[in-house]
Amino acid sequence: MHGLMMNRPLLISALLTHAERHHGTQQVVSRRVEGDLHRYSFAALASRSRQVAKALDAMGLEKGARVATVAWNGYRHLELYYGVSGSGRVLHTLNPRLHPDQLVWIVDHAQDQVLCLDKTFLPLVEAVAARLSTVRHFVLMADRSHMPEASKIPGLVCYEDLIAGQDDAYDWPELDENSASSLCYTSGTTGNPKGVLYSHRSTVLHTFASALPDALNLSARDAILPVVPMFHVNAWGLPYSACMVGAKLVLPGPGLDGKSLHELFEGEGVTLSAGVPTVWQGLLAYVQAQGLKFSSMKRTVIGGSACPPAMMQAFEQGYGVQVIHAWGMTELSPIGTVGTLKGYQQALSAEQQQAIKAKQGRGVFGIDMKIADEAGRELPWDGKASGELMVRGYWVIDQYLKGQASPLVDGWFPTGDVATIDADGFMNITDRSKDVIKSGGEWIGSIDLENIAMAHPAVAMAACVAARHPKWDERPLLIVVKKPGHELSREQMLAFFEGKIARWWTPDDVVFVDAIPLGATGKVQKNRLRDQFGDHLIRQGA
Ligand code: ADP
Repeated sequence: MHGLMMNRPLLISALLTHAERHHGTQQVVSRRVEGDLHRYSFAALASRSRQVAKALDAMGLEKGARVATVAWNGYRHLELYYGVSGSGRVLHTLNPRLHPDQLVWIVDHAQDQVLCLDKTFLPLVEAVAARLSTVRHFVLMADRSHMPEASKIPGLVCYEDLIAGQDDAYDWPELDENSASSLCYTSGTTGNPKGVLYSHRSTVLHTFASALPDALNLSARDAILPVVPMFHVNAWGLPYSACMVGAKLVLPGPGLDGKSLHELFEGEGVTLSAGVPTVWQGLLAYVQAQGLKFSSMKRTVIGGSACPPAMMQAFEQGYGVQVIHAWGMTELSPIGTVGTLKGYQQALSAEQQQAIKAKQGRGVFGIDMKIADEAGRELPWDGKASGELMVRGYWVIDQYLKGQASPLVDGWFPTGDVATIDADGFMNITDRSKDVIKSGGEWIGSIDLENIAMAHPAVAMAACVAARHPKWDERPLLIVVKKPGHELSREQMLAFFEGKIARWWTPDDVVFVDAIPLGATGKVQKNRLRDQFGDHLIRQGA
């Protein structure tokens, strides 16, 4: 017997229609490439998104056609989020920090037909435009006064002219909720990048779940500033969830330095932000150096790589900003787990709470998870047994775009992360499987070592990698960037580990460097560190 309820498709356009009808005067504020602050309402966002949809119709773009963006977080990018997906095309957000060759490869693989870019990225796109054989239209996201006099891209279209040619009388199509809505490629630190093709259904369900109180706890009383780029897994869904809940959206454009961000937090009354740990390092350093405070910010979501407990404490104890530690992946749209405390845990000591919050968190409803050993046997949730983390759920990948073999194992997606899960369901990542350090057959978790090192007052950043060792195969090697003006010796650094971990986990050596290489999404590139320092211990005559 079927239920007798309406079967309305879950569509991204419905998020925008809701925002327009119920929160029409709510604001979207953007720092523009042009240098100024732009401000308009959800009603204006909806109207201009419909103009975008009509402009794509006028270009003769079929349903399912890919429209790429190379853009900062800003209102025109947001209009494309809704105009492209809402009209049945697929929004392909490109990461401008990728190597140009990789960009060409991805555009070609995705067969993008339109490419929309911010003016900042004109040189980047001009350099590769001739190699982008599938792209029929290049659109500069600017008004006429900011168009270049001459460009190496023939027929470069002006975004404002393009949409000015359309009125906003447009009905969003009733698409199949399983149709593709957007596309994001994984960073591809090994092998070619892989395309993750989200659907309207997966996106809307992810949006619902991300807003829950024990997830990001989003509401119409929030002003959200996603520092995480809109090209990095849809800015963790915030452009969608802000419309769902009617929150003010503050988009920082190219201004991602501590000063620009802090000004925007204060000027726009931002209550919630989100980003990877490396971004917060810059902001915290600036705020500390200038003796500033956060007057409106209540929470910040930190994920993408492990949030060092020292950073969490700096935010919470130093500035009264609650840190929400979250774990996710491109293949998970991205949210998987969020580290919010359970009721009884609120009565625990501050130290015990810190230990729980340093973990990656509990599964959000919609994500099921388990850990398995090398033979695929499920491991207990005792906080000790560690194995590969496997997930399944409403917004988890089933197939990569044009993928040959299914990535799934018995219906579960293997994440490549090594984790424990405790009896309360808190998952803790000890490593990515490819970054694990195997010393004499035993695993050493690099994240634990990094978290300890980062708590040292003289350490700005630390990464721990496996270095080859004649006796133990691999031993941990710590790479450290010192804070400016601080002194730290190898011996002092190693002594700092004493009593905090099993003695045999202590790194064999410390290498001080000026900078640690970061990838396109702000994560430490351990493969590059291994290339550089993999033989360090052997060279030292270990
Ligand atoms: P994203 O682009 O969302 O960062 P990627 O697919 O590039 O996603 O990377 C996902 C990986 O990032 C995860 O498999 C995990 O190794 C790492 N990661 C994400 N969040 C965390 C976290 N909070 N702690 C530790 N590692 C994390």
